[in-house]
Amino acid sequence: MRAILRGRLVIETPRRISVDTGIVVDNGIIVDVGKYDEIAARTTDASVQDFDGIICPGLINAHTHLELSVFRKEQFQHKDFVDWVMQLVAARTSMLSDDLHIECSNAKRDAEERGTAFFVNVGNDYELNSSFGKNQLFQFEQIGINDSNADRIFSRAEPLVNQKKGGETALAIHAPYSVSPELMRKIKAYNNGRNSITSIHLAETSDEVEFIRTGKGRVLDLLNRRVGDWKFDVQGLSPVKYVDSLGILDEKTLCVHCVFVDDDDIKILRDRESAVAICVRSNRELSGKVPPVKKFVESGIKVLLGTDSKASSPDIDMFEEVATFYKEFHGFLDPARVFGMATSDAADFLSIDNSQGAIAPGKRASLVYVPFNGKVEDAFEFLATEAHGKTKAVDC
Ligand SMILES: [Zn+2]
Repeated sequence: MRAILRGRLVIETPRRISVDTGIVVDNGIIVDVGKYDEIAARTTDASVQDFDGIICPGLINAHTHLELSVFRKEQFQHKDFVDWVMQLVAARTSMLSDDLHIECSNAKRDAEERGTAFFVNVGNDYELNSSFGKNQLFQFEQIGINDSNADRIFSRAEPLVNQKKGGETALAIHAPYSVSPELMRKIKAYNNGRNSITSIHLAETSDEVEFIRTGKGRVLDLLNRRVGDWKFDVQGLSPVKYVDSLGILDEKTLCVHCVFVDDDDIKILRDRESAVAICVRSNRELSGKVPPVKKFVESGIKVLLGTDSKASSPDIDMFEEVATFYKEFHGFLDPARVFGMATSDAADFLSIDNSQGAIAPGKRASLVYVPFNGKVEDAFEFLATEAHGKTKAVDC
């Protein structure tokens, strides 16, 4: 059965808002978009649903960890990032797995109902994460600081990814301080061979910078406590320069956080055409600082938005993330641009623009409605400042 969704305002792309517009949906796919009168005249055998507000495409969460959705950030009383990691690892180890799937699936569904259409989901538990459905890029995250274990870790992970269970899957590099050069290279080569994205947490904390540069500091404590026998080849480089020296950065690399980067690092990220995923709320919680987004934007680096997990962020609702991001950076970013980061820019980078990121024929009808009685020219500002908490996925 076809349905026509009639929206007072329809945001088709970050550059195109149309008034009194019809969206024809057939079996979950958008088949026609246009002026409502014209759509109604050429569409037979369709029910009409009226929406007196904004209809926009569902948002894309470029970084989250669905498997951590059972946590609340308040339960971790950490004094720094390493402390948080230690508490998180302990909490995960002591958790019973029976309810994990249900609780994490519920958290994902809540986010979907509030308007997130797609997730770049980083996780260590292959079976659990594969069960979260097809509207995700599951980044199966690998950890291993010793090169001597790289073959073993890689050959254990690769056959799982090749199974192609539940949604698109690729391997992910956890971080430069937890993955050895050989394992990073193997993961990157494997993903590039499949034209897949590789995500890596990068330059998230000052502790990470200190360790990669000097081999000292709090990350040293973490490795000593968690790994025991390990080695790291200190070269005095920043995290960005270090992973670049290993050939990890290119146009298929998604660098998550990038809070502690200097101008040279930014130039490298731009030259390699890597994207950055910004999780402002998590960064404030774990790093006490936000990334230099103005410099990223001015450099032409592709900026995407993510929520990170509920272990460091209040929720995984992308409209909440957009509101916080826009509040932080509205001085130099207009709201349509921010909306683009969470929709079409993310879809382009992830190569899912055939199905996500805009309202157009052929794409999935992952649509969001929010009541709004203001003017068309205020629609993006409203979405970025007031819509959070009021958005609802359109059931069609
Ligand atoms: Zn993360």
